[in-house]
Amino acid sequence: MPNYETMNNADLLKIAKTYGDPVYVYDSEKIIFQFNRLTNAFSDVKRLKLNYAAKALNNIAILKLMNSLGSGLDTVSIQEVQLGLLAGFKPQGIIFTPNGVSLEEIEEAAALGVRINIDNLSILEQFGSKHPKIPVCIRINPHVMAGGNSKISVGHIDSKFGISIHQIPHLLRIVELTKMNINGIHMHTGSDILDIDVFIYASEILFETAKNFKNLDFIDFGSGFKVPYKEGDIETNVEELGKKLSTRFNEFCTEYGRELTLAFEPGKFLVSEAGFFLAKVNVVKQTTSTVFAGIDSGFNHLIRPMFYGAIHRIINISNPDGRERYYSVVGYICETDTFANNHRINEISEGDILCFKNAGAYCYTMASNYNSRFRPPEVLWHKGKAHLIRERESFDDLVKNQVDVGELFAKKSEKAHMGVK
Ligand SMILES: *Cc1c(COP(=O)(O)O)cnc(C)c1O
Repeated sequence: MPNYETMNNADLLKIAKTYGDPVYVYDSEKIIFQFNRLTNAFSDVKRLKLNYAAKALNNIAILKLMNSLGSGLDTVSIQEVQLGLLAGFKPQGIIFTPNGVSLEEIEEAAALGVRINIDNLSILEQFGSKHPKIPVCIRINPHVMAGGNSKISVGHIDSKFGISIHQIPHLLRIVELTKMNINGIHMHTGSDILDIDVFIYASEILFETAKNFKNLDFIDFGSGFKVPYKEGDIETNVEELGKKLSTRFNEFCTEYGRELTLAFEPGKFLVSEAGFFLAKVNVVKQTTSTVFAGIDSGFNHLIRPMFYGAIHRIINISNPDGRERYYSVVGYICETDTFANNHRINEISEGDILCFKNAGAYCYTMASNYNSRFRPPEVLWHKGKAHLIRERESFDDLVKNQVDVGELFAKKSEKAHMGVK
C-alpha cells in the first residue's frame, strides 16, 4: 500500500524546536487516510461501523477528529467512556468493552446510555437479572488455532477474554431465564490478522453463534489489523479482507433475514503510523563493542520496545543524508532501557533529533512519570500547521496529588541527633 507521508523532516525539526523535546507529533491526514482506506475496503457492506479503540491514543483532539469522521468509540474503562462523552460522542456511539471490571462500573456505563459488551457469564447473569431491558452485546472467544505453519491463534483456550464458545449452552440458559436482550456478538482476539482465511474461519464461528439470537443489531469483529513497524513487516491486507468478509457477511445477513451492522474496533491501524516521537541525543558513548546514543527520554515515554520487544524505526532527522552506522539507542532511565539494538542510523552527533516511527498507538497512553520525569507534550499536525494538544507536564503535576504529612517526621533537635541527652 502507498507509503503515505504528509510531513517532512523540516516540519518535524521545527516542531521539536518550537515545543521542545521530547515531543509526540500526530499527523491528522494519515489518520483520515487510514480511516477512509478501511471504510472503502468494506464498501460492499450496507451498514459498516468503525469504533476507534480509545486506548491506543486518547487525546481529546484525536477523539474529536474520529468523531468528525463518523467513527464510534470503543472504550475499556468508565474513564474512557467519560473522555468520549467529553469529546462529543453520543452515548450510543460508544461501546464499553471492558474485561474484569465490576458490575457497578458496567452499570455506571449503562446509566450513561453507552452500549455494553459483557465478556463473562457471572456478570452477564447478574446484569441480566437486574436490568433485563438494557440490551447487551456478548464477547465470544472462538478458540481458533491456526494449524500448520501459521502462528496465529485467535483467542486461545486459556485467554482471559471472552465467553468460550463451549459455554454457549450456559449462556443461552442465562439469556432465556433473565429474558435479557442480546443486540450484538463480538470477538476481539488481540492477535495480528496475517492470514485472512484464519480470520474468516473465526468469523464463521461468530455467525454460527449469532444464529442463536433473534434481535441482533450488529456483529463486531474486533480488531487485529497489523501495520508495518520495520522493514519487511507484513501488514494486514485490508482490501482483501474487505472483499472476502463483506461477501460472507452479506450472505449471512440474507440467511439471518435482516441487515446487520458489521463493526470493527481498530486502534493501531488508525493511529500507529500517524505518530512520531522526537527525542534529542544527549550523549554518544563508544564502549568496547557498541556505540550508544543516549536520548532525553526512556521507557517512561515509550515503553513498547522494552515491554513487547517492539521494533520502532528510528531516523536521524538532523542528518538524514549522513553515513549510516550501527547504534544502540538507549534512554536515560536508571535501568536498562534499550529502544533499539544495533540499528543502522545516519551518523549521529550529540544534539541531533531522532524520530521514532509508529509512535501513534500505545505510546503516549502508556507513558508514566517513572524517575520523576514529566510526560511530553503532544502536537497535532493538521492542514500544514502544528497545534499543541497537550502541554508538557510540570513539577506541579508531579506533586499535586501528594499529601504532605511532613509533621510526622519533624526533625529532631540538633542535640538529639548527636545522641546528647
Ligand atoms: C485494544 C482493543 C482494540 C484495539 O486493538 P488494536 O490492535 O489497537 O487495533 C480493539 N478492541 C478491544 C476490545 C480492545 O481491547
